[in-house]
Amino acid sequence: MDVPYTGGCQCGQVRYEIRAEPLTIYACHCKECQRQSASAFGMSMPVPRDAVILIQGKPKQWRRTSDSGREVVCFFCGECGTRLFHQPTRNPVIANIKPGTLDTTTELRAVGHVWTRSSQPWIQFSDETLNFEGQPTPEEYLQLIEKFSCQNNADN
Ligand SMILES: [Zn+2]
Ligand SMILES: [Zn+2]
Repeated sequence: MDVPYTGGCQCGQVRYEIRAEPLTIYACHCKECQRQSASAFGMSMPVPRDAVILIQGKPKQWRRTSDSGREVVCFFCGECGTRLFHQPTRNPVIANIKPGTLDTTTELRAVGHVWTRSSQPWIQFSDETLNFEGQPTPEEYLQLIEKFSCQNNADN
């Protein structure tokens, strides 16, 4: 993706710009992501936290405690409710962008799936992606980053 790239909420009040390449993109099939997205799975696109610049509006924050007991700060538009990004306290240098809010989504290719054990039964996983049954371990997380960077270098 060409840096910077932009996104925003459904009603347009909150707009952001990202000034760094994504570290990776993956889909999460945990129950929290299913409920949060009101859909089958959530997508995560981690970027360096200081590369996320709010250019319009001020998102509201909501905090939840993850299964591991760590807090996740969730940012969303107070007007239309679109979830924009998460800041996990577990990893204070990254923000997890909800990439469906990007203005251009044609280049979004998830390299992996996490929490496949709670995925909806009609979803089939390919051997082309990294598929993890639960929360990725630090080693598995690095594999997601590595695979994303290999895929992008191959495209260029
Ligand atoms: Zn909005
Ligand atoms: Zn999840």
